Amino acid sequence: MDTDVKKNTIKILFFFFYLYTISVKVLSMTTKSNSLKINTNKKFEIIDITSKINESIDIEEGIISIFSKHSTSAIVVNENERGLLKDFESTLDNLITDKFSYQHDRIDNNARSHLKSFLLSSSECLPIKNGRLDLGTWQSVFFIELDGPRANRTVTLTMVGE
Ligand code: ZN
Repeated sequence: MDTDVKKNTIKILFFFFYLYTISVKVLSMTTKSNSLKINTNKKFEIIDITSKINESIDIEEGIISIFSKHSTSAIVVNENERGLLKDFESTLDNLITDKFSYQHDRIDNNARSHLKSFLLSSSECLPIKNGRLDLGTWQSVFFIELDGPRANRTVTLTMVGE
């Protein structure tokens, strides 16, 4: 065989091997979903949901979307230290103060709850390693109730990985 033909044949074989390894990788990826139901007891409440999420994780490695299906709540990652959580509550109250009137209060008396939710986020996307959230030492995942008390707040967990 001509050396150029030989070289091209080897290239083509490598290319097919590469495609094969990619398809094996893609086929081993899965998507799993789960949800958490949370009952809250106060107007403003911070609930550490880290262990509940860890119990619901169904893959070894990948990412997880943690999404609250409510516009007066939030999902955040931070440190579970009592003083800090109090600071977080008072900072939100100082930012979205009751000194002003809000348009949304004309139809639904919870504008401040929505506005706090706007400033935070309804979801977090986090890494999973060894079947658990791969968080830093001082990090926890919190569900933030901004307009409680409410029954059956829903947080969906969507996992992608292997
Ligand atoms: Zn509202």
